Amino acid sequence: MPKQFRMTNQRRIILEELCKVTTHPTADEIYEEVRKILPKISLGTVYRNLETLSEQGLALKLDMGGTQRHFDGTVKNHYHLRCHKCGKVADIDLSVLDEIEEEAQKLTNFQIDHHNLEFVGRCQNCQKNQ
Ligand code: ZN
Ligand code: MN
Repeated sequence: MPKQFRMTNQRRIILEELCKVTTHPTADEIYEEVRKILPKISLGTVYRNLETLSEQGLALKLDMGGTQRHFDGTVKNHYHLRCHKCGKVADIDLSVLDEIEEEAQKLTNFQIDHHNLEFVGRCQNCQKNQ
C-alpha cells in the first residue's frame, strides 16, 4: 500500500519556496530559504519532503550532470539549458517534441512515459569570464 500523502504545512512552504524561483535550486538552496520561515527545520527534513513532493508529481527532481540534484516547481514537460562551467540551470522556451516519443515507442516497443532534453554549454556570464 502506498503511503498516503498529506500536504503538511512544511511541505506547502517548501513547495511555495520552490515555485517562487526559476533558478532550479538544490535542496541546500531551498533549505536556506525555508529556514527563514521555519527556523527549526533541518536539511534532512527538507530533503525528505522534496523527495515526497517529487514522488507525488508536485515537483520535478532534475537528473543532470553534476553532483547536486536540482529541483523544479514547473512540472509540465519543458527543456533545460545547463552551464557546465557554473552549473546554472535555466528553462528554454522551446516547444516539446511529442512526436519523438511516438517514434521512439514505434522503434522499441518501449512504453514511453516522458522524455528529457538538456542543452549543455556555457551561460552568458561564463562566456564573458573566459
Ligand atoms: Zn555559467
Ligand atoms: Mn525548469
